[in-house]
Amino acid sequence: MPDTPPTFQDLGLSADALAAIAKKGFEEPSPIQQLVIPKLLRNSTDIIAQAQTGTGKTAAFGLPLIEMLNPREFSVQALVLTPTRELAIQVSDEIRSLRSDSRLQVIPVYGGQSFNQQLRSLKKGAHIVVGTPGRVIDHLHRRTLRLEDIEFLVLDEADEMLNMGFIEDMEEIIKHTNPDKRTLLFSATMPPRIKELAKKYLKEQEFITVKQQPLTPRQTEHIYYEVKNAEKFEALCRIIDIEDEFYGLVFCRTKSDVDTVVSQLIERGYDADAIHGDISQDQRERTLMKFRQRRINVLVATDVAARGLDVVDLTHVINYALPQDPESYVHRSGRTGRAGKQGTSITFITPREYQKLLFIQRISKTAIKKSIVPDVKDIIKAKKKKIADEVMEINAQEIGETYHNWAKKLLEHGSESDMLARILYHAYHAELDPDMYDELHTERHSRGQDLEGQARLFVALGKKDSITPPKLVKFIIQNTGVPNELINEVQVYDQFSFITVPFAEAERILAIFQKKNTGKKPLVTKARKKES
Ligand code: AMP
Repeated sequence: MPDTPPTFQDLGLSADALAAIAKKGFEEPSPIQQLVIPKLLRNSTDIIAQAQTGTGKTAAFGLPLIEMLNPREFSVQALVLTPTRELAIQVSDEIRSLRSDSRLQVIPVYGGQSFNQQLRSLKKGAHIVVGTPGRVIDHLHRRTLRLEDIEFLVLDEADEMLNMGFIEDMEEIIKHTNPDKRTLLFSATMPPRIKELAKKYLKEQEFITVKQQPLTPRQTEHIYYEVKNAEKFEALCRIIDIEDEFYGLVFCRTKSDVDTVVSQLIERGYDADAIHGDISQDQRERTLMKFRQRRINVLVATDVAARGLDVVDLTHVINYALPQDPESYVHRSGRTGRAGKQGTSITFITPREYQKLLFIQRISKTAIKKSIVPDVKDIIKAKKKKIADEVMEINAQEIGETYHNWAKKLLEHGSESDMLARILYHAYHAELDPDMYDELHTERHSRGQDLEGQARLFVALGKKDSITPPKLVKFIIQNTGVPNELINEVQVYDQFSFITVPFAEAERILAIFQKKNTGKKPLVTKARKKES
């Protein structure tokens, strides 16, 4: 009889944990969970686990931690170190979503967020701290975080932390921790440096490895833009600008193209750098380190130079020039949409390259959808939204009296809205100036006219609502019955999306959503301006 896989109950979890798991909708434990959960709950050894992000490893350590920590005690009982702030946020959200006792406080601490805000959260009492090494060290130095009593230390994506040059920080953090703690080390790869780290800092240890596909499949959206050579740079800037967080690799054909694009990007104020064959090994290492640490968020490369480059979490791969062959297309775009994250592969083609693109699509068996370069008005709208979000994130207590007094003084000179507008203008007019963008030829052609009886619609749903292009199309089909083949040029951004449909269908869609949302603004509206 074949072995039936264990259930969550078989792993020794409590009724509370099982209820939280059911609420999350997990049906059965993933392979890493089957191995790690019972060992953590029943044994007392340290653990090294080889597993990738996307395999359910957060719940594999998160569920047992929640079971074993005491929410009534007022001390940090577990520290999870992660290489990036995105992962710190993701891990702490996932652990929070798995707990049944809301007194158990899970606090993320990472660079870039206000120190004081984190301080206040820590002071209120944290049981699990999830942090990036640099910021955790800062807190240790300021004595705002004490790790003497922790029972668990989790090194998450340890190989990535080593790649990012965090070894010294990690060692210093470990020195501050309780020597009797249990240590769990998770790593996607097991290079010798990881083994050395484990030998040095882990006690009696069990090694666990799973060969498992990520639970969430690769999610890469493939799109292409038809742009003239002279307009590629403008298109690139717009793609970067409309995203909340762009972290991407831009592929050029030649070394000199790489250099040109990088110097243009830097001139326009982007944090970009280059790797190609003429760059020394030392310089290459330094650049890659900066990219991994997110001190630059645009890396421009040739195919050869990008070989062997292992960076996870890319939001975008941009084919500034069409790759030579389908294999190289697959290879390039495979660098995004990894580990359960959503990624976008964008290809620029000139009209003459269309045949070659069709060939790449056919051989690589990838549907690459035509789309249009973001419109300047939408970019500015996205930037304003981001500014507003950041302003609202500032903690009121942090602002302090000086600024309030200053505000009162300024208000002696004019009305509230007048003064606020002046301040906003002063702070942002350069960043929000539409004139910094060049007009694209497609925009010149389409201004004021509707192309081929198609209408562009704005949908107030985006990546933040877990929308992907296929999900958006499905949503429209389910709500309106408009067939798949009539929904084109689907673009999904963080906050909103666009689709193009024939006029008649547009009328129908608008009417349906108008009816659905009486009183409120409908989910689907006409895009302000017809783009091409
Ligand atoms: P992780 O590898 O921890 O980043 O998890 C990847 C994704 O898989 C997260 O969205 C989890 O919520 C989800 N997940 C974790 N465990 C399971 C499970 N047993 N069944 C289904 N989804 C899961």
